[in-house]
Amino acid sequence: MTHPIFMVGARGCGKTTVGHQLAQALGYDFVDTDLFMQQTTNMTVAEVVAQEGWHGFRQRESLALQQVTSNRCIIATGGGMVLAEANRRFMHDKGIVIYLHADAELLAQRLEKNPEDSQRPTLTGRPIAEEMADVLAAREALYRGLAHHVIDAAQRPEEIVASVLKALRSSAA
Ligand code: ADP
Ligand code: MG
Repeated sequence: MTHPIFMVGARGCGKTTVGHQLAQALGYDFVDTDLFMQQTTNMTVAEVVAQEGWHGFRQRESLALQQVTSNRCIIATGGGMVLAEANRRFMHDKGIVIYLHADAELLAQRLEKNPEDSQRPTLTGRPIAEEMADVLAAREALYRGLAHHVIDAAQRPEEIVASVLKALRSSAA
């Protein structure tokens, strides 16, 4: 198996953490679309959004997805990558898509514990758990519809890696 592997799911579900470990386990390269955009624009997500709006950010995000994708690579995507149909089709057709599923409470707990990880502007100033519940309500069907495998993101990172490896083996068989 050499296909690119795309990690999708809401902010905080562990795409970067798990994707990185999975790449080590498989001997694949690892890229993170958010980090790639930060490095190529020299701006944070918040700065891009302030200057170019969410529309500008989403355009850059689609371009980044195509630029970083290659075989033998794990691609951790931004939480909103699935919003554009073209991105969904690209990931589904080009590779294997892993959805790390977590509920709003868990996502909020992780983001509150590590606020420096959540560098996206909050949309409303409301409690983070409420915001994540809204995000999931809007995106859950997209994540599931796109995913080749849905993995429980509440496990420890090592367990998630093992679950993903098992899912990959079962689909390769
Ligand atoms: P994402 O890339 O999906 O936004 P991250 O990998 O950055 O998520 O993880 C968000 C936060 O949650 C980080 O502080 C990370 O250390 C922590 N984290 C990620 N996966 C797990 C896990 N399986 N169990 C506990 N904490 C985790
Ligand atoms: Mg990430």
